Amino acid sequence: MKHLLTGNEAIARGAYEAGVTVAAAYPGTPSTEILENTAKYKEIYSEWSPNEKVAMEVAIGASIAGARSMAAMKHVGVNVAADPLFTYAYTGVNGGFVFISADDPGMHSSQNEQDNRYFAKMSKIAMLEPSDSQEAKDFMIEGFRISEEFDVVVMLRLTTRICHSKTLVEFGEREEFKMKEYKKNIPKFVATPVNARGLHVKLEDKLKKLEEFSNNTPLNKIEWGNKKIGIVTSGVSYQYAKEVFGEDVSYFKVGFSHPLPMKKIKEFASQVETLYVIEELEPYMEEQMKAAGINCIGKEKIPLIGELNPDIIAKAMKGEERELLDVDISLAAPRPPIMCAGCPHRGIFYVLSRKKNVMVSGDIGCYTLGSVEPLYAMDTCICMGSSVSAGHGAQVAFDFNNIKKKVVGVIGDSTFFHSGITGLLDIVYNRGNALTIILDNRITGMTGHQENPGSGYTLMGDKAPIINIPKLVEACGIKNIKVINPLNIKDTEKIVDEALSSDEASVIITKWPCVLKKFTEEDIEEFGNERVLCKVNEETCKTCRICGKVGCPAISFNDKAYIDENMCVGCHVCMQVCPFEAIEKAGV
Ligand code: SF4
Ligand code: SF4
Repeated sequence: MKHLLTGNEAIARGAYEAGVTVAAAYPGTPSTEILENTAKYKEIYSEWSPNEKVAMEVAIGASIAGARSMAAMKHVGVNVAADPLFTYAYTGVNGGFVFISADDPGMHSSQNEQDNRYFAKMSKIAMLEPSDSQEAKDFMIEGFRISEEFDVVVMLRLTTRICHSKTLVEFGEREEFKMKEYKKNIPKFVATPVNARGLHVKLEDKLKKLEEFSNNTPLNKIEWGNKKIGIVTSGVSYQYAKEVFGEDVSYFKVGFSHPLPMKKIKEFASQVETLYVIEELEPYMEEQMKAAGINCIGKEKIPLIGELNPDIIAKAMKGEERELLDVDISLAAPRPPIMCAGCPHRGIFYVLSRKKNVMVSGDIGCYTLGSVEPLYAMDTCICMGSSVSAGHGAQVAFDFNNIKKKVVGVIGDSTFFHSGITGLLDIVYNRGNALTIILDNRITGMTGHQENPGSGYTLMGDKAPIINIPKLVEACGIKNIKVINPLNIKDTEKIVDEALSSDEASVIITKWPCVLKKFTEEDIEEFGNERVLCKVNEETCKTCRICGKVGCPAISFNDKAYIDENMCVGCHVCMQVCPFEAIEKAGV
């Protein structure tokens, strides 16, 4: 029987069938569901690691020990994990090792749209690119075989459309992979310069063998049609090309894309009249083909930016304007990006939005919405963990140049565990004085409520020690630490003002669970779960619209302010900002 699976579910199934026993990841769209699905197989130990580098290292350790292991991450996560990756590429593996890079063309939920196929080339590893869920599962199994046969690291490169679309998948049996014997091997696994020099020579030799494999493997296949047009393509672009050209043209479908099967591509090129390269994002294949002397057309026609689709390809290559479904978007209710009603971050961002002469260095998470209307309470957002270190850098620049401006770094709890800690150490070590605010909502909010070192549970559902953030911050060397309830505006304002007037580094931890979180026993014990909703007293309301400045989607205005009781969750933030006490607890 076939099963309808997303690419991410198929990857997890492939790991199961390949006999994987260790899987690690840090959540990030579009890769998050891979580990959520490996965790459903009791045969696979699955963990959320605090960041992608740690996930990669956990999987590498398991591979050296002899187990088949995997790590998964979104494209920007590979930047974080690049350090161990480049060296493990040199040493080679013991148990098979595959890691997944889930790229995000079109930046559906990312800060850039880097094409990680270049990582495979730069780090000198093997790369596979599935174009549907069946291939995602099959290529996982093949990836482990290649990793062990050639003693190399394998990257499986997905894109959002493959991760999240569903296609049919045929299941197979699990291969009961017996852990390989671990033997101490210092020249292979200790990458000191003297060993690494020899390992690099061996790696170049492995790459030659991989290129030969690439030229012969059925993972790279030719589908002959009319030879007037030949198309070299890979991943989801293959599906788009097929939809536009059907059986009318000849295809070279690249499934094993590093090293490229250049000999086989040359043979294909010599038999077609005009050769096109259809690939999403960068001209990864096109550049290498042109360098190898192959005459082809690629980015002259196919866009370099954003996600492709069949309409874009039809227009670019055939000049066809396809008839599109005409939807009257004015019928859809306007829904600007905004923090949820009752979001515990609203209070702190409201307070920060009222501060003059303060720069807010932000970070990656749902709280990046603190930068949008009406709060506008965030100045920058670069990458995971940068709020603390970039905030420190900005503060140093202002101070050093005698500019009176305070900087506040704002970071979520999971992001702090991911890579905020090192920035804080930097502040302490270099005697910085920036203020860091850790928004502890007791969960990894943006990616859909994954557990983290502060949440008290593992990915596999076991209870875990809860890392104490104030003690951790203290251990980093911060002396001024305050833990506050961010729903209390007066207290929050007072504590923020105190910290801003201090010449020393300070940390404020705003502690309140995400409004969408299913409370744990510990949450209920600490925060209770009684909430009293708010309503507007129309007689007292002066329509001054100050409550609108907190940006709660439950509040709207007709003549007077109005609170939608179906949306309100009783955080009482609006009640505290109304200067006329027109907002009251409903039913009290
Ligand atoms: S802040 Fe108070 S008075 Fe002003 S609009 Fe809102 S409810 Fe009415
Ligand atoms: S109490 Fe006010 S701010 Fe909080 S959710 Fe309800 S309407 Fe929004």
